[in-house]
Amino acid sequence: MIRMGERSVSRGTLSRMTSPTSQVPPTSRTEPSAFVARLPIGERLPLPEIAHWDIFPFEGDLQIKVLDPPLLPEPPRAGEPGGSECFACSEPERGVLWRDEHWHVRYLPQPTGLPAVLMLFPNQHLDLDDLPDDLAAGFGLMIRRLSKAVQAVDGVARVHVNRWGDGGAHLHVWFLARPAGMWQLRGTCLAIWDDLLPPVPVEEWLDNLRRIGAALAADGGTANEPVQPEPNPG
Ligand SMILES: [Zn+2]
Repeated sequence: MIRMGERSVSRGTLSRMTSPTSQVPPTSRTEPSAFVARLPIGERLPLPEIAHWDIFPFEGDLQIKVLDPPLLPEPPRAGEPGGSECFACSEPERGVLWRDEHWHVRYLPQPTGLPAVLMLFPNQHLDLDDLPDDLAAGFGLMIRRLSKAVQAVDGVARVHVNRWGDGGAHLHVWFLARPAGMWQLRGTCLAIWDDLLPPVPVEEWLDNLRRIGAALAADGGTANEPVQPEPNPG
């Protein structure tokens, strides 16, 4: 998964929606919760059961990292006061595969290991908890719509939907295509497998994106021709 630099500038194109309310201070807690206080900070944990499951990508002599001390208060995310700029707002057209009046879908700058990896953003600079009711209701419809559109790519068994949001304050939901037949890739390790598998060939990657964009645009909005991959920063 890539990280995105971000900036807190609203596009202002959706004036009928409520104004952004995500300009709140970053997590300001300074003392560990009871949960954090009882964690074995500085100790090495034993290998968990999942390390022996067939879906686990690694084998051999593994050890779990020592738990770092808590970082409180947490640093601001991109798009929050004191944080870096919001990627989505500072580069509103970059990597946009499809857009309508409320939502847009972006792809990564380069192919990765899975047939398709996409992100769903609200056009406005809003995080999940800040979505007004009408947008939150439409969010469910968009998740279903994009999940079905990703299945326009040949051989997609399932679309995994994930929202983390620890890096950026502008809501972005990940959609990962799990290839049919690759049973070993099922479940929670799929995002790691995306980094491990060989990158999809460029022409196939572009064709997959075109199919997804066309499937989305069939129900409204506008699809863009995907652009050639950006040079890999290494
Ligand atoms: Zn933003």
